[in-house]
Amino acid sequence: MDMIKVDNLSFEYIRRDENGDVESVHKAIDNVSFQVKKGDFVAILGANGSGKSTMAKHINAILYPTSGSVWVNGLNTADDENLWNIRQSAGMVFQNPDNQIIATVVEEDVGFGPENLGVPTDEIWERVEKSLKAVGMLEYRHQSPNKLSGGQKQRVAIAGIMAMKPQCIVLDEPTAMLDPNGRKEVISTVKELNKKEKVTVLLITHHMDEAVLADKIIVMNKGHIVMQGTPKEIFTKVDELKSYRLDVPQVTELAYELKKAGLPLDDGILTVDEFVLSLKKIQHKD
Ligand code: ADP
Ligand code: MG
Repeated sequence: MDMIKVDNLSFEYIRRDENGDVESVHKAIDNVSFQVKKGDFVAILGANGSGKSTMAKHINAILYPTSGSVWVNGLNTADDENLWNIRQSAGMVFQNPDNQIIATVVEEDVGFGPENLGVPTDEIWERVEKSLKAVGMLEYRHQSPNKLSGGQKQRVAIAGIMAMKPQCIVLDEPTAMLDPNGRKEVISTVKELNKKEKVTVLLITHHMDEAVLADKIIVMNKGHIVMQGTPKEIFTKVDELKSYRLDVPQVTELAYELKKAGLPLDDGILTVDEFVLSLKKIQHKD
């Protein structure tokens, strides 16, 4: 079954003046459809303003479709009765970890979600321990979140979501405020959760190198889906990606340009290691 199903979704931001008359209408999502299967890791890539956050807010029933529909775990988000179940099925992680951490001790922060759900105390502590372990933060359980790095705080925020046992997590640019190390920590943590805990992941980002780890990539531009495919399929199309204002990893672009210039390199090279391997293959052919 699909964990997330988006069917012909369109959404308009409508601005009204003080009399309630429509001042402006902005179509942020224009007839978009896609599905995320249970257990999948899907990345949505797109430059600023392409509609990614608007999409994320639909999946968590913060916004409702102007037309079309959004289904989470078989539940229609437009139906008020489903709100609680939807928010429990799909946990959200946002950009700024400081806005997501409330308690003054790490383990209390992670326990806050399950406590709100009415989970019995013994089980809360079990979940806290397991979640902190899963994001590699167990040794910090008694610390104050204030002392943590951005990447560590974001991992605690993810543990807080995991402790509520969602089937799916939606992350809206979770690394936007982090340094390169923090970004790596968070993205590899997400990949681990997907692989080991089988959590369905929808990762929203404008960094191509973060989308590499996904099973499937959806590229958005100006409210439309413009590309869909595996990382390899997507990253072979360097010119097209650049036309959507997406930054291609340097090594991908170098390999792409060398290939265009006649060097028989592999398609869709994403890492320095792949580049080296591909160069070696050429050398051995001579
Ligand atoms: P992204 O997350 O990809 O940067 P958003 O979903 O935030 O994109 O925004 C998509 C489009 O909708 C942009 O053109 C943005 O200016 C517009 N938009 C976002 N939020 C609002 C709002 N509250 N009112 C009006 N327009 C908005
Ligand atoms: Mg956004």
